Amino acid sequence: MTRPRTIIEKVWDAHLVSEQPGAPALLYIDLHLVHEVTSPQAFDGLRRRGLKVRRPDLTQATVDHGTPTTPRTLPILDQVAAAQVARLEANCREFGIPCFGFLSDKQGVVHVIGPEQGLTQPGMTVVCGDSHTATHGAFGALAFGIGTSEVEMVLATQCLPQRRSKTFKVEVNGALKPGVSAKDIILALIARIGVGGGTGCVIEYCGSTIRALSMEERMTVTNMSIEGGARAGMIAPDNVTYQYLHGRPFAPQGAAWEAALERWRRLPTDEGAAYDKEISIDAAALEPMITFGTNPGMGIPISGAVPDPAAVADPLERETLSKALKYMALEPGKPLLGRPIDVVFVGSCTNGRLADLRAAASVLKGRKVNPRVRMLVVPGSQPVKRQAEAEGLDEIFRAAGAEWREAGCSMCIAMNGDQLEPGQYSVSTSNRNFEGRQGKGGRTLLASPLTAAASAVNGVISDVRTLL
Ligand code: SF4
Repeated sequence: MTRPRTIIEKVWDAHLVSEQPGAPALLYIDLHLVHEVTSPQAFDGLRRRGLKVRRPDLTQATVDHGTPTTPRTLPILDQVAAAQVARLEANCREFGIPCFGFLSDKQGVVHVIGPEQGLTQPGMTVVCGDSHTATHGAFGALAFGIGTSEVEMVLATQCLPQRRSKTFKVEVNGALKPGVSAKDIILALIARIGVGGGTGCVIEYCGSTIRALSMEERMTVTNMSIEGGARAGMIAPDNVTYQYLHGRPFAPQGAAWEAALERWRRLPTDEGAAYDKEISIDAAALEPMITFGTNPGMGIPISGAVPDPAAVADPLERETLSKALKYMALEPGKPLLGRPIDVVFVGSCTNGRLADLRAAASVLKGRKVNPRVRMLVVPGSQPVKRQAEAEGLDEIFRAAGAEWREAGCSMCIAMNGDQLEPGQYSVSTSNRNFEGRQGKGGRTLLASPLTAAASAVNGVISDVRTLL
C-alpha cells in the first residue's frame, strides 16, 4: 500500500519530469502567466538564442502593473508604462502567445484573470513572474512566483528546476464573527508566524472555516502565503471549487469536465498524511486585523495597541520594530483606532474581486466618504468591473464620493501614477506595506475591504463592527 500523501505531494509527484539525488527536481508546468514587467528580458533572451515558446497554448499574458486606471479612452501617458505595455503586446504577437492587452475586455491583474477565465484548475502547476502567484493555490494548484531568468526557462522548455518544499498544515476551525473576513484570517496567521514562519514550506489551508469560504475569499488567503515566507499556499478542491469553475471559458467542457472532476476528486490530502509543520487557528476568536508596521507580519487586532519595542527581548526584532514605528510615525502603546487617514485603496489581487467590492459597497451604501479622504476603488479585472456595474456597485461608490477606476494593480504597487504623497496614511486592501510600496514616504496599513470602507466613512481608522 502506498503511504498517505498530502495534496502538496500529490501535485508535485504528478509533475516530476526527473529527480536526481543532490540536484533540484525538474517540474512540468501546466500554466504560465506572463505580464509586462518581468517578461521583456525573457523574450529578449529567447530571441538572442533563436528559441521559440515551447507551449504558447499553456501561456497567457495580460497587462496590469503599470496600466493607468483612468478611462481606457485616454492614452497611457507614462512613457515607461506605455513602452512596457506595447512591448508585451508585440512580444506576444511575435511568439504566438494569447494576450489580454490594454484594450481587451478580459484585461486585469494576472492573479485575477487566471481564475476568472477558468485557466487555473485543480492539480495544476502554475507559475508567473510575480510573488503573489500563490493566489492560484486556492484551487488546489501548486502555484508560485518565479524570477525573470526562470520566466525565460519556462517559455523555452515548459519545465522548471525546483527543490521540494516542506509541508505546513494551517487548520482554521470555527465560525467567523460579523465584520471578520478572509483577509483577517491571513493577517492573523502572518502576525502569529511572522514573515519568515513559512520559509521553505508550502502551506495547506484546511479546516471548517476554510471550507466555508467562497473561492474569492479562499484566493485572499492563499494570495498572502508568500507574506508569511511560504513558497505557495494550497486549498484542496471541493464542490465550491467545481461550482466556481464550471462553465468558465477555459474550464473543461462536456466529457472532459466529467473526466477532470474524477481526477480532481483524488487530489485532497489522504487520511493520515504527515506534515512537517502544523498550526491551528480558532476563527471564532479572530477580530478584524490591521497592520501598523512595514511588513505584513506587523499586524494587530483593530482594537489593539501599537506594540512597544521596549517589551521585545530580541535586539534585532526590537530594532526592526523601532525602525518601522519611526517610519510609520506611530507611538508605542497607543491604539490605532481613531487615527486620521488620507487615502483608502480597495483593489489588488488580494481584494479586488467582486466579493471584495460587494463587501466595501455594503458599508458605503447610503453613507459618504469623509471629505478629508481620497478613496480609490479599482476592480481586479475588466470582467469584475462589468459585473460590479451590472449590480450597481459603481453607483454606490460614486454616490459615496469614491473614485471608480479601470482595472489594474494601481496603488498596490504605485507604478501607474496612483500613489500616496510622502507622509500620507492609507488603509489598503493590498498585500504589502513595505516602506514606499504605495509611493515614496507613504504609510500603508493593510486591512480588509470592510475595515477599509469603514475607515473611509469615518476618516479615521475604524472598527467596521460599529457600522454593521
Ligand atoms: S495587485 Fe499588487 S501584488 Fe497583485 S500582481 Fe499587482 S502588483 Fe503584484
